Amino acid sequence: MSRLRFIALEQAASRGIVDVAAPSKKVSDYYGMNVFGDEAMKSYLSSDMYKKLKAHVQKGETLDEALADAVAAAMKTWALERGVTHYTHWFQPLTGSTAEKHDAFFEPSDNGKVLEKFKGSALVRQEPDASSFPSGGIRNTFEARGYTAWDPTSPAFIIENGSSKTLCIPTVFVSYTGEALDHKAPLLKSLALIDKAATAVCEYFDKDVTHVYATLGVEQEYFLIDRALYFARPDLVMSGRTLFGHTPAKGQQLEDHYFGSIPSRVRAYMQDLEIEAYKLGIPLRTRHNEVAPSQFECAPTFEEINLANDHNQLLMDIMEKVAERHNFKVLLHEKPFAGINGSGKHNNWSLATNTGVNLLQPTSKAKENLQFLTFFVNIIKAVYENADLLRASIASAGNDFRLGANEAPPAIMSVFIGEQLTEVLDELEHNGNIKIDKGDNMYMKLGIDKIPPILLDNTDRNRTSPFAFTGNKFEFRAVGSSANCATALVVLNTIVADQLKKFKAEVDAQIEGGKKKEVAIVDVLREYIKQSKAIRFEGNGYSDEWVEEAAKRGLSNIKTTPHALEAYLSKKSRQVLVGNGIFSEVELEARVDVMLHNYALKVQIESRALGTFAMNQAIPSALEFQNKLIENARGLKELGLKEESEHLKDLIKDLSRHVNAIKTNVDAMIEARKAANELDTHHMAIAYCEKVKPFFDVIRYHVDKLELMVPDDMWPFPKYRELLFIK
Ligand code: ADP
Ligand code: MG
Repeated sequence: MSRLRFIALEQAASRGIVDVAAPSKKVSDYYGMNVFGDEAMKSYLSSDMYKKLKAHVQKGETLDEALADAVAAAMKTWALERGVTHYTHWFQPLTGSTAEKHDAFFEPSDNGKVLEKFKGSALVRQEPDASSFPSGGIRNTFEARGYTAWDPTSPAFIIENGSSKTLCIPTVFVSYTGEALDHKAPLLKSLALIDKAATAVCEYFDKDVTHVYATLGVEQEYFLIDRALYFARPDLVMSGRTLFGHTPAKGQQLEDHYFGSIPSRVRAYMQDLEIEAYKLGIPLRTRHNEVAPSQFECAPTFEEINLANDHNQLLMDIMEKVAERHNFKVLLHEKPFAGINGSGKHNNWSLATNTGVNLLQPTSKAKENLQFLTFFVNIIKAVYENADLLRASIASAGNDFRLGANEAPPAIMSVFIGEQLTEVLDELEHNGNIKIDKGDNMYMKLGIDKIPPILLDNTDRNRTSPFAFTGNKFEFRAVGSSANCATALVVLNTIVADQLKKFKAEVDAQIEGGKKKEVAIVDVLREYIKQSKAIRFEGNGYSDEWVEEAAKRGLSNIKTTPHALEAYLSKKSRQVLVGNGIFSEVELEARVDVMLHNYALKVQIESRALGTFAMNQAIPSALEFQNKLIENARGLKELGLKEESEHLKDLIKDLSRHVNAIKTNVDAMIEARKAANELDTHHMAIAYCEKVKPFFDVIRYHVDKLELMVPDDMWPFPKYRELLFIK
């Protein structure tokens, strides 16, 4: 029975390093070669059409049929020259991965021949069969179908798969009644919202600012394990994480992996991944080991959010494809191994103006720092006011295992800003009324002149905070490694935009009341600093003291997804999300329904997998061993070695105890599942969380005990040490 494990071990141990070749030595020679980007547009479109397209993308000017046809023709020519045979509208449904439906370029023409065709209408709009994508009841399957619509702000690209090449066109996915069915549509709305709100605030400081872009740099953590070992672990195959497995003698105590060099086989994988990323114009810059054994991280340079998120989605795809070539399997799950660090996706987030200013970059000019502080304080206030909503935005079945597990930020939302900025805010808070003088006097009195352009605590910054200021950006670290960042970013963009709108209204009112602009700004900020103080935390976010302290401060600590998601539907959240036009009421409720359903399904799958593999793999191995012991005991007795055989009786009994406990708990878990399945989505999710999931740890405990008792060569599943240390 354990044969598969040993075949897999042999395969894993004897792997060679796969050769990796780039299209050219210099990255700049092939960077973006598979992207229909600005350069390609320029050379494949007439200059008139190129200008029109730019105007459409930058200023929202209309896209007429002639322009759509011209762009489609240019894309087709460009793609056919590169050996592309199919095109697809590429979109991000709520299932958590990307979706494609490939159509061939050719169409039948006269005389049984075919012609390659691609019209503007096919570029702009398509109808995938949407009935199988989750929509939370927005549309019944018998209703009119949804459609995908071209997003011209994210360039089309070619996906290579062996010799097959497909042109992918980024799109939003919408129902005919106008409801968004994907991640991109609300993201684009939230980006337009924050552009408008932040630009309006920038007018206080710089009239040249006409646009503000939110920026995103994603640090993606992941595990790599050998493909053969992966397939010998049915729990990994079914649920993306191990449902049992005893912690290895050597875990991550030594932290030697973090500082160690990257193993050659992994290095080849990373190189290959980078080459594929560069071809697609994904600016992957850093690669390194992470804290846990076999855990790694890669991060591209930040980009405008819509593009950065498309790139992250695409990156997750190619990570898996490239892994196949290297006989690895990528684990993007938030917590593939109990007792070992989980994986996150740090979202580095900031705001940049069309004039090239990063609004979260302190400068050496005191006056400019009032602008920095304005955005800085408003963001803190936004997080304070909407902490539960922000928590909801990162909720998922996988992330529940990670948040608060003493190695990831806790489920308590807080903001870390560092010592220096704490001092600045303290000074601003405690300074009384100020008079405005000429020059920089006011800024000096407020301590605003003391903000250094480069913050000292950049290196010793707090790693335990879910939302940390890191010198010139905020880092939202609580996002799960498998998430589509859009879920978190829609909320972040929207709460900050909402806050900026309120700020602007308050300051304007004070200015109208006769206050000088700068004084009004400072006065409002001072109030915000006072009001939002509870959300600021500089200490150790992993500690038990923080859990207590946070409770005293009135901060929420919502540990599970079904309860976290409830925050989406509070009156306050509706005001922010629906009030700002990001979702309609129907969309918001549907989305929460999809997320709850998703959660219940994930736990259901894990529960089934855990039950099955415990019953028909773990228990049979234990019984096989037990039979050997019984035979042995009998033999000893026959030889008259009675005392020695007594010894074995204990072992035999222990095995039975664990086997019985597994059987009893699996049976009870099945009953709990049956009861949960009878409920409506919300209660079903809660029941899976509170009535089904608690069995996991109990069953696992006994299976892991068996793993320790059963002889190594009889155990069917690759062990943690094999999964984590063979590379
Ligand atoms: P770390 O020390 O966390 O590795 P880095 O400076 O390498 O910090 O940045 C991590 C990520 O943050 C990278 O993806 C980087 O491009 C991104 N980043 C840097 N500046 C910004 C910014 N202004 N907006 C968004 N992301 C940014
Ligand atoms: Mg970082």
